[in-house]
Amino acid sequence: MNNNPKFIVFEGIDGAGKTTQINLLREELEKLGILCEVTAEPTELPSGKAIRRALAKEVDKTPLEMAEMFTFDRELHNTDAKIGIKKMLAEGKTVICDRYYYSSLAYQGTVLGYDAVAKLNLENPKILKPDMCIFLDLSPEESLKRIGNRGNTVEIYENLEYLTRTRKTFFEVFEHLRKREENIAIINACGSISEVSSLILAAVLDVYK
Ligand code: ADP
Ligand code: MG
Repeated sequence: MNNNPKFIVFEGIDGAGKTTQINLLREELEKLGILCEVTAEPTELPSGKAIRRALAKEVDKTPLEMAEMFTFDRELHNTDAKIGIKKMLAEGKTVICDRYYYSSLAYQGTVLGYDAVAKLNLENPKILKPDMCIFLDLSPEESLKRIGNRGNTVEIYENLEYLTRTRKTFFEVFEHLRKREENIAIINACGSISEVSSLILAAVLDVYK
């Protein structure tokens, strides 16, 4: 087993199980003696808070401004002296991140075009390429059920259409990324929490070989 710290990203539509599985993966890896740090985007830095305000429509931003705000937050997420991904990796910690540029390519890419968002992120020397992206793949119907169980109110038809479109867009993004030697594991997320966790652990341990 190679003990180099890894940078692992979780993606998937809302309700697919990212938060649940990130916490379980951290526990499993720590049992194996692998130190982990869990992080998420948008960050808790001022740049991430500004994104949340814009998403909540408290301030008005154009789609290009939004894409640039996400890129800036991601740059700082990589380079910040206290909470930066590069710093954590340098300390020997495996970094597990909830959403990253795959989400930007899917969500902002739909509005601005894939190439524009790819240019901001993939050609950016401050933004690391992850060692692995785990895409939790769940049907939009099942995601909606899980979101409902989580206690949020859901407007069923609107959201079903939106989640269906988003899932399709993620697969288009992965098709684009084929040329880039990205390590993307599509994990079937419809099983029980422990079944999905086992699939993830097997895929992740593969990158430690
Ligand atoms: P995400 O972070 O991707 O939006 P969550 O981890 O918050 O998803 O999961 C959404 C909801 O579904 C939570 O209430 C969680 O407890 C539940 N959940 C997660 N994984 C499963 C699973 N495999 N089977 C059933 N429910 C699940
Ligand atoms: Mg979550």
